[in-house]
Amino acid sequence: MREDFCFETRLLHNKHKWEPETGAVSVPIYHASTYHQPDLDRFGPYDYSRSGNPTREALEETIAELEGGTRGFAFASGMSAISTAFLLLSKGDHVLICEDVYGGTYRMVTQVLSRFGIEYTFVDMTDLDQVASNIKSNTKVLYVETPSNPLLKITNIQGVAKLAKAHGCLTFVDNTLMTPALQRPLELGADVVIHSATKFIAGHSDVVAGLVVVKDPELADQLSFLQNAFGAVLGVQDAWLVLRGLKTLSVRLKQSTASALAIAKYLQKVPEVLDVYYPGLPHHPGYAVHMLQADGAGAVLSFRLKDEQAVKTFVRQVEIPVFAVSLGAVESILSYPAKMSHAAMPKEEREQRGITDGLLRLSVGLEDVHDLMDDFERAFKTLRKERGVTAIGTAG
Ligand SMILES: *Cc1c(COP(=O)(O)O)cnc(C)c1O
Repeated sequence: MREDFCFETRLLHNKHKWEPETGAVSVPIYHASTYHQPDLDRFGPYDYSRSGNPTREALEETIAELEGGTRGFAFASGMSAISTAFLLLSKGDHVLICEDVYGGTYRMVTQVLSRFGIEYTFVDMTDLDQVASNIKSNTKVLYVETPSNPLLKITNIQGVAKLAKAHGCLTFVDNTLMTPALQRPLELGADVVIHSATKFIAGHSDVVAGLVVVKDPELADQLSFLQNAFGAVLGVQDAWLVLRGLKTLSVRLKQSTASALAIAKYLQKVPEVLDVYYPGLPHHPGYAVHMLQADGAGAVLSFRLKDEQAVKTFVRQVEIPVFAVSLGAVESILSYPAKMSHAAMPKEEREQRGITDGLLRLSVGLEDVHDLMDDFERAFKTLRKERGVTAIGTAG
């Protein structure tokens, strides 16, 4: 792949733009689970598809190149990518992890890794002093999610990576919300980049997949060993769907990011909205850091309604967004973190992290932005009317 090509061009014109044997302009789907061995002591490039498969490998090579790494690994889900990366740890190790991490990652760390004697501390990673003061002698991983989900908090990747290096720890970055189109953590000093490819990378709400990319060849060997040992590999049909989705990643993100900014600005002016969380708004506390380490604010934003009771009505009234868990799709997705993505977190923990009952998350898709804003405005008008009725009712 030519390095002087822009990211947009490299999404299409990479090593896998055609298949050398036939010239096919789409990566063939190799269903084979096993491969003929030429002789007793001669081996082909593949032996068994858990260990390696040409279709999966095409995706792994493509994502590695796009993230600026040396090797990529495709998994059956974002969670299996995360869990496999955590298998780099051993009993007695400690993980420092950002406090408003994805709910599934929180569950993995607190309820599974803990049973294997792996310790953890959650910290507010937007504050590098807090990160530094919580590193212990047995800390092995600093785990970052930036922007975080659902509050879009920004962690300085370079800052964390520097602290990690100084203490002999690895930096893991969950890059799901940004994708390599907007943020490339390996270039900022991170060691392991993780994706739920279910979201923006595949982008069409039709596949569950996970990816890991590393730069260091030794780390690559360890992960390759763990991918094969744990065995949570991505199936070939799904690998193909991710490759297909990846081709349009840049255009999708550009349009969705522009729409997200317009919607964030609109929501700021709505009287029923208490707060808007979007790293593309200059008043966002992480704005400056984010704009230095990323090429855009992305397509996910959250907002808090003043009246927590109004959430139900609002969700019922909006017509366009799908009301669902997940994000990063062609269709806009509205979700309710308290009861969906962060249901695994105890209420006190959740509220302490700002994930209160009035919070809604929006992943902006490819619909016309004015249609989306009109839809929201209609829902807010209904809220206003209902409140008016209640007020009259109370007065009477
Ligand atoms: C969805 C998500 C995950 C988990 O990925 P799955 O593909 O659902 O297993 C991890 N991190 C983030 C930020 C996510 O949004």
